[in-house]
Amino acid sequence: MSAEHRIAIVGAGFSGLGAAIRLKAAGVEDFVVLEATGEVGGTWRANSYPGCQCDVPSHLYSYSFAPNPGWTRTYSRQAEIRDYLRDCVERYRLGPHLRLGVEVGECGWQEAEGRWLLETASGPLSAQILVAATGALSEPSLVSLPGAELFEGPLFHSAQWRHDVRLRGARVALLGSGASAIQIAPEIAPEVEELTIYQRTPAWILPHPDRPIGARERALYRSLPVAQRAVRGAVALSREALVLGFRHPALGRPGEWLARRHLERQVADRALREALRPSYRLGCKRILVSNRYYPALARENVTLVPHAVTEVRARSLLAADGVEREADVVIAATGFRVGGTASHHIRGRDGRTLAAHWAGRPVAHNGTTVAGFPNLFVLLGPHPGLGHTSVLLMIESQISYLLGAVAAMDAQGIAVLEPRADAQAAFVAAVRRRSRKTVWESGGCASWYLDADGHSILWPDTAWSFRRALRRFDAERYLART
Ligand SMILES: Cc1cc2nc3c(=O)[nH]c(=O)nc-3n(C[C@H](O)[C@H](O)[C@H](O)COP(=O)(O)OP(=O)(O)OC[C@H]3O[C@@H](n4cnc5c(N)ncnc54)[C@H](O)[C@@H]3O)c2cc1C
Repeated sequence: MSAEHRIAIVGAGFSGLGAAIRLKAAGVEDFVVLEATGEVGGTWRANSYPGCQCDVPSHLYSYSFAPNPGWTRTYSRQAEIRDYLRDCVERYRLGPHLRLGVEVGECGWQEAEGRWLLETASGPLSAQILVAATGALSEPSLVSLPGAELFEGPLFHSAQWRHDVRLRGARVALLGSGASAIQIAPEIAPEVEELTIYQRTPAWILPHPDRPIGARERALYRSLPVAQRAVRGAVALSREALVLGFRHPALGRPGEWLARRHLERQVADRALREALRPSYRLGCKRILVSNRYYPALARENVTLVPHAVTEVRARSLLAADGVEREADVVIAATGFRVGGTASHHIRGRDGRTLAAHWAGRPVAHNGTTVAGFPNLFVLLGPHPGLGHTSVLLMIESQISYLLGAVAAMDAQGIAVLEPRADAQAAFVAAVRRRSRKTVWESGGCASWYLDADGHSILWPDTAWSFRRALRRFDAERYLART
């Protein structure tokens, strides 16, 4: 592996591959994409659990510059999204830039050299610019499972699905009732002996508008790309309108009504219905979509335990209701250690890691660059997350901003760029001001959307406004060294 590059991108999911494609298109060739695992795809490689599917329409959950006329469903399944990303690697000839199976450890800023030094599984690597594309939801979390190591049967996280474990005839405990759990349950319920679902907090679930895309429609998109662009535009526009419900929770009431009606229509049992009714406002946590989860709960072999697991024992689980229930297999759909690996490995000018620097309150200028961490671009870090539309719109805005910075460095002979602390503070203050009334901060739930002080770390506005904020690289808000 060549030890010096202009740009090192860490992570080969949507963010890292998107950055690579756009850099190459802009004529920047001296970059590498370092990926810890042996394959590209990120989220869509890791989450191979049964039923894994995106909950944003595929026409929008794909790069704007790489439409896929071949989507077979309006909401694609995991394998199709993974294959789309693999195809992008071929289409844009990223192969020579990819370093698969290379886990990046410590990344330290070398002030004298004005470069990043990366420790990798294949030896050290130096880069002028570091792009952290390690994903916000890429590190499975099992922290809330005391005694997990004592369980004698298979116990695995949904993002590390054990395809070798036979579920047929087994008593399966499914931990969690979030986005992954509600996709897994209907898939495995028909084959397992018993399925016990442990729910800490019920989710708002809306009807799923997913449908197959027929051969004729696909042929239309193939022969008339403008038709697919029009659909994408219409989907983007209609999704943008939904942000109002997040900014002004009262406007989310029609959505709550729809979700309640969905619950009432699909769950006949009154006690079960009550257990599934959220006590916080719609949107405070991720809004889920499914037509198959509630019916799965009505099966004879499925039990909903509306309590968290407090202890894992050799062959059983103890829940907060004090009851011990036996299990042969435990599947933890317990979410992720939010923030990914980047924050623990990247050390800035003062030698502290991003995680230590942030201390539970992550901030970034324009959601992308961090004061004290020169020449670092964090994709999908603090602020670009959202609840109403595709995060790819946000990733693409960040990538354009990165390209703007690279162009400014080239044009002005800049070697080192770092956002001014006051510029970053002003950006964060504006985001916080607009977040105050959002459902994330006022909706009555605890979620990973909030930092240690209860401030939302999501973008409180349209994806379009984020694009506008990042459309130009604001060099005047940076400290620059030639
Ligand atoms: C099950 C699931 C479903 C989702 N569905 C949706 C959806 O419907 N709509 C939506 O908008 N978003 C969804 N998301 C969020 C999703 O994560 C993002 O949309 C997007 O895929 C993130 O892409 P990424 O490239 O930023 O991160 P990731 O896809 O997580 O990729 C990060 C990559 O970095 C690699 N990496 C991490 N650390 C290192 C290291 N130290 N060294 C080298 N490589 C490293 C990882 O192996 C991984 O390949 C979902 C997330 C999950 C988990």
